Formats: sequence, structure tokens, C-alpha cells
Amino acid sequence: MQKPLEVLKDIFGYSSFRDQQGAVIDSVVEGNDNLVIMPTGGGKSLCYQIPALVKEGLTVVVSPLIALMNDQVAALKQLDIAAEAMHSNIDEGLKRQIIDDIDKGILKMLYISPEGLLSGRFLEYLHSKNVSLFAIDEAHCVSVWGNDFRPEYVKLSRLKEAFPEIPVVALTATADHATQADIIAQLKLNEPKKFLSSFERTNIKTVVSSGLKRIQQISNFLLSHQGEAGIVYCLSRKSTEKVADDLRAQGYKARAYHARLPADEREEVQQEFQADEIQIVCATIAFGMGIDKPNIRWVIHYNMPKNIESYYQEIGRGGRDGKPAESLLFHSWGDYVSLKRFIDEGEATDQFKVVQSAKLERMWEFATAASCRTNLVLNYFGEYRNTKCDHCDNCLNPPELFDGTKYVQMALSAVIRSQESASLNLLIDVLRGSNRIEVRDSGLDKIKTFGIGRDVPFLDWKHYVTQMVNQGLVSIDFTDRSKLKSTPLSMPVLKGESTIMLSKFVPNDKKPKVKIPKLAIDVGDADQDLLAALKTWRIGLAKSQKVPAYVIMNNKALEQVASVLPQSSSELLAVDGIGRVKLMKYGDAILEIVKEYG
Ligand code: ADP
Repeated sequence: MQKPLEVLKDIFGYSSFRDQQGAVIDSVVEGNDNLVIMPTGGGKSLCYQIPALVKEGLTVVVSPLIALMNDQVAALKQLDIAAEAMHSNIDEGLKRQIIDDIDKGILKMLYISPEGLLSGRFLEYLHSKNVSLFAIDEAHCVSVWGNDFRPEYVKLSRLKEAFPEIPVVALTATADHATQADIIAQLKLNEPKKFLSSFERTNIKTVVSSGLKRIQQISNFLLSHQGEAGIVYCLSRKSTEKVADDLRAQGYKARAYHARLPADEREEVQQEFQADEIQIVCATIAFGMGIDKPNIRWVIHYNMPKNIESYYQEIGRGGRDGKPAESLLFHSWGDYVSLKRFIDEGEATDQFKVVQSAKLERMWEFATAASCRTNLVLNYFGEYRNTKCDHCDNCLNPPELFDGTKYVQMALSAVIRSQESASLNLLIDVLRGSNRIEVRDSGLDKIKTFGIGRDVPFLDWKHYVTQMVNQGLVSIDFTDRSKLKSTPLSMPVLKGESTIMLSKFVPNDKKPKVKIPKLAIDVGDADQDLLAALKTWRIGLAKSQKVPAYVIMNNKALEQVASVLPQSSSELLAVDGIGRVKLMKYGDAILEIVKEYG
């Protein structure tokens, strides 16, 4: 029997296992059941592909998507591994061929959909064959607690009943704590070993901003991401088209992508993006599955996603090459309310709605958090930690807190005096003494709190009430037109028994720029030809601008460029001495020189 590490080197051409891979593979080869939680791109496939090659017999891989199956099989065939995919899109001839290969014991890996595996007599057929392992990919689909429940996965519980002796490895990139337990229960895993890889993506800077003037914010953001590939995720088809139009009008190569586009156009967008022919894709969540583009440098969420799993998976498409990437999430009350309405008005079961609402709640907490955002995500996935991450906006620029008890009392008093009849905007209008018709029609201009908060601007109020919701001081009743209601925590604050800290509202254009972590750079190994070319370029510029050369750029910066050979704007920004303005003025020229001489 070949050793796993030998297979990794010989067949896959890699020198070592990534963090948990080796341990997972050993456990699978030993014959345990296993649950593997590893982020996208972490290398889950090898966790069953290597055992499949090391063990005698056939490994059956259950996968939900035909495109993913085909890609995996194509990659394995490149390595001369006997693998096939069996799904509804293959013809009878190939199906017979596959069965023939299984009968002869030639086939090493069979990819199959859950329906395919469980329909007809296929399981029975497999009984007489030498099956060594079942791998269940995207295992979170088996759980209603997961973010992509698929009813056909539920029947996979039959696998363990039919094959109690054959090990099962369940793998997923997204499973919160409840989902992990549910996968084990649903698949009836037998004392499984659990492998939880760290979900932290230290190279992704995480920034959240309020959803005001989003297009303008995107334009500003793109100034420091010139020429870099990125995705703007939107909730609706209409916004993908609108954002793409706006960005094209600003000179960017951007295209929209959504499920209603004809298949060939979708394919075209995907290929153009993959080949760097377009810089930006403005997409609904339909875009991304199966995208394997290492140099995506940024991901923007134009709208708030419906749960942390989706959000984290989507930003995880950035920086797959390990180089710095940035994510920017816009959040708005409006997005939250529409997502909540989608859930409430959907056709799903009540249990499903409860789960989805709880997940949305956690997403909202993330978007409005004042503490380390990475920790919030890690805790969500069951990786508890409370040290700072230093790559999210809250760690890099901690929000300023102040004693906001006075404002909380004003708002609570208005909630109670309005007899809990006001939604957020109406409540703020009442606090600010607005003359709006709705205020007069509601009769709330007569209550005692009318106008007591007129000195506080509308957006500041919105920021404060949002924090009150997050702190449980007031709740939103979605069953009653999103009206604000008091909670058991309201009274003690009104009576002055507790102090409430709030963060100040900072308009987006006043926010300090999040510092970009500098790369550790060793200037010792500067490429001398490149350095000379950069200096010649600098002299030319200095002469034409009639300034000393160091004003254009100092020697240290040029040396850093010549040693790290930056390939993109964000890498240039990581060089000491190159900020946004110099990037805009000289970025393209420097990148050209690096390309030519580097
Ligand atoms: P996942 O299924 O977890 O999203 P994949 O299994 O597709 O991730 O692996 C992502 C990429 O990483 C693939 O290109 C794979 O070949 C590569 N990879 C996996 N393990 C290793 C390793 N030990 N060394 C180098 N590259 C690896």
C-alpha cells in the first residue's frame, strides 16, 4: 500500500499536506467516520481522493452539482486516475461503460448525485462490489440548520443502514455549530472524528460600511484597486445591471451576471472574468460556485447577504492566491427588512423560517458589530477566540464609544408613549419633531416625547436605534409591520438603573481610511536591472516636473518595488512610501516597468 504522502508527491505533485489534511487522510484510511469542516479552497478533495487511491476498491463521492463533478473528474483523468461521474446528463453508453468498469473493479472513484445513488437499485447493486469509502461533499446540505438544505440529501441516512461497515467522510465549508451536530445525526456517523480547520483568512481585510451612496463609495474604493479583479454581489438582477452600467460609465470593464441571462452569456462572462478580459462582475449569488480564480483582489457586497455562511463563502473567493484582498460589505436597514420579508413570506416550513431568521439576525449583528468581526465569524463556526484579528475595520480603527443612556431613554420613552405603534423611521421622525404627514396622521405629534431629540441628526438616530436593537433594548416586530416594541431590558434603562454605551455615527466620508497592513519586505534582494529602470523613469519625471527625484518617490520605495515585484495596485499600496495618490499618479507606469524588467 502506497503511503498518503507518497501519493501526494507522486500523483498530485505537491510537497506537503496543508494543515489538517494529513490527519484527516490518516483517519479516513484507518477506517473511521469523519466530519471535515474546511474553508473553501482549503483542500477538501484530497481528503478523500488520496484515501481512494491508497485503499483497495471503489470510493463513491456524493456531490450535489454536475458541473463540480465534471470538473473534478476531468482533473483526475489528467492524472490518469480511473474516475467517472454518473448523473442525468450522461448517455446510456457511458453509463453502461461505468457499470462495466465497476464490475471489473477498474474504477477507483465514482462521483454521483444523491438522487443517483439512492434511486432504483443502485445501492443494492453496490452491495456486491468492493466499496471502500463513501465521501459526502457539501455535507451541510443534509441539514435544515445549514444554509443550503437539499431534501434529496436527507435520504443519505440510508447509507449507513445499508453499509454499516464502510467508512463515511462528510465534508463541508460551511457549517455552524448546530449544523455540524445535525450532519453527524442525519448521516448516522459512527463516533466520527471531527476536524475543524481554522476559518480565518488573514489576508482578507474585512470592512463594513453603511449603505449610503453606495455607487460613490464603490468609486472611491476602486481608486485603490485599479485594474484589479473583483466581484460586486447584489441581491437583485436589476441592481447587478445598474451597478455594472454605472461602473462601465466610469470606464471600468464591468459586466452583470445573474440566473436569468442566457446560459451562453453567463458562460461568456465567467470566461472573460477568468481570463482577466473584464475586471468586474456585478452578480447575484448565482455567480461563484466553481469559480477558481486565484487573483480576485476584492469582493463588495452591495446588499447584505442572508446569512454569515453565504457572506463568508463569498468574500472567501477573494485572495485565493494568499495575497492581500479586501472585502467591503454595505449594510442597510432596508436590506435587513427585505430579507426578513423574503423569509416570512416564503413557502418554507415554520421550522425553516425560524432557522433562517436566526441566521439573518446573526448576519445583522455582524454588520453592526463594534468589536472584532473576524471573531464573530469564527465563533459562529465554533472556533472560539477572543484575541484581536487586526485585519477587520473594528480592530484597525476601533469605534469610539460614549455614554448614550440619555438617547436610549429618549427613544424608549417614545416607543412606549407611541404605544409601540411606530416603525423605525416614524419613531425617529417623532423624536426629531418632523412635520411629515405620516407623523400628523398617526397622531404622534401630540405625545410628550415629540421633538425631544431634534438636535440629533436623522442618521445618528438610526445608528443609535440600530444598536439598541442589537443590545436587546428594543425589538422589531416583523409580524406587525416592523414596529418597535419594548423588551424586558427596556424598563431598567428607563428607570436609570443601567448605563448604555453606544458607538458614535461616523459618516462614510469622515471615516479614517483603514490602514493597509504592510507586507514584511526584505529590501536586500532588489532586482538591480529593475531598480535601474525605475530610477531612470524617476529622473525623467523629476525633470519634466522640475522637482527633486526623491519627491517623486524615495529610494527605499523603489528598492521595495524592485524586491517584491508587485503585480497589482494593492500590492503596490503595500510598499512603504506609496499611498493612494502616488498609486493613482504612478501606479500604472510602475506596474508596466515591473512587467517589462521584473
Ligand atoms: P476545497 O474543495 O476545499 O474548496 P480543493 O480540494 O478544490 O478545495 O483544493 C483547492 C486547491 O488547493 C486545489 O487547486 C488543490 O489542488 C490545491 N491543494 C490542495 N491541497 C494541496 C496541498 N497539500 N498542497 C498544494 N496544493 C493543494
